[in-house]
Amino acid sequence: MKPAKSELYDIAREVTEAGPDDVAFDGLRLLQHPERFRQILLGQEFDIVPVTVQLWPSLSCDVRCPTCPYRLTDARKIADDDKDLHLMPMDLFRRLVKSMAAAGVESVFLTGGGEPILHPALPEMAELIRAEGMAWGLFTNGIKLSEELADRLFQAEPGFFRVSLDAGNANLYRKIYAAERDVFELVKANTVAAGRIAAKRGVRWFGVGFAVMPNTSLKDIVDIRETFCELVEESDFGVNLASFRPRVIHHSKNKVVVPQRHNGMYHELAKTIREEIEYPLLERYGDKVRIDHKFGNFSDCDRDEVAKGGWGGSWLATLDHLAQGSIVSHLTGASNNPSAWGSALEGGGFGYAWNSKQRREAQRRVIEGQIKLPMANGFRSVDAFIEKVKRRFPEPLCEEAVDELMEVIESWDFYRSKRPEFVG
Ligand code: SF4
Repeated sequence: MKPAKSELYDIAREVTEAGPDDVAFDGLRLLQHPERFRQILLGQEFDIVPVTVQLWPSLSCDVRCPTCPYRLTDARKIADDDKDLHLMPMDLFRRLVKSMAAAGVESVFLTGGGEPILHPALPEMAELIRAEGMAWGLFTNGIKLSEELADRLFQAEPGFFRVSLDAGNANLYRKIYAAERDVFELVKANTVAAGRIAAKRGVRWFGVGFAVMPNTSLKDIVDIRETFCELVEESDFGVNLASFRPRVIHHSKNKVVVPQRHNGMYHELAKTIREEIEYPLLERYGDKVRIDHKFGNFSDCDRDEVAKGGWGGSWLATLDHLAQGSIVSHLTGASNNPSAWGSALEGGGFGYAWNSKQRREAQRRVIEGQIKLPMANGFRSVDAFIEKVKRRFPEPLCEEAVDELMEVIESWDFYRSKRPEFVG
């Protein structure tokens, strides 16, 4: 039986109308990749080449956050015990980037594992990604972010560049990062200095990220807002982005943590962030700043059951500093990672390795629930969107039906991301 054209459109409209209150909202951008999306409908999800690869330039980090996901597994043990830096070798990086681009990857997140800017060749890495025609973005703790480094990175045209701040005062920062009191002011100063350069260069999408726990006090929430205003104004609006997402513990003693300790409080926290931060900032700055408040992702953390999914693993891949792949990003590098699938250059290139039996089997184990997904995992929004699609189309469709279903998708009025090349 052929599906009515409107069935997929109905999902797109439903998610558009819910907006960021629905955890699936960020997953809506899958429709902006129609060639890949049709593979879902055809039942060929395992053949999808990831849009985004999150890559670790460094396993080493310059702080020791007590709730760092990679310290809650043993992924970081070797690097934390060692004074030498554990970095991605540049010859490996060069081969990898060429190979990913050839396979059809569209963007790279430079993230960790460890702290990306500890890699001395980070600007060169960014330039190489751009030279291969891919977009890139960076997550950094900002502790060693110098003006010179920021300038070089901005020259390589990041799609986004985000400093994780997570707090609006030194006390909360110290608890999260287990760092000296003055590190908070140092990161703020680095962010403002980099922001001024961003303002001069006209860079959009430079800003700060806040992962927030439900037990954060109202005073700490207000401090976050005021600190963000300080960064925006002192940097002449070079700092123009604030992202809010739920802080969770992904794994403890090799087990997924569900429910979370503050189960039942995340939705309320999202409302507080909206009322105390998002709305006042919009009133104050209008569209001169962007507030990315992942409201639906907060509410989603009130679940008391493990999320189903794993299909998003086809859209967002994770590779560690030695290019070892993992389906579950928070298990990357762990010695007992059941979602590990081996080297991303196995067989000579990313396309080959991605299509390998090992990668497919690892992803199948996640989808079948043999490997549990942690709360707020990297592709949760993608999974939530695909879940809606699968509910409506539980069986694979034929080519003709998919053609008909997606025939006029360009003309549909659903929310389109300005940066669909970043998934996750
Ligand atoms: S800054 Fe990030 S990578 Fe480093 S310890 Fe903290 S959470 Fe882990």
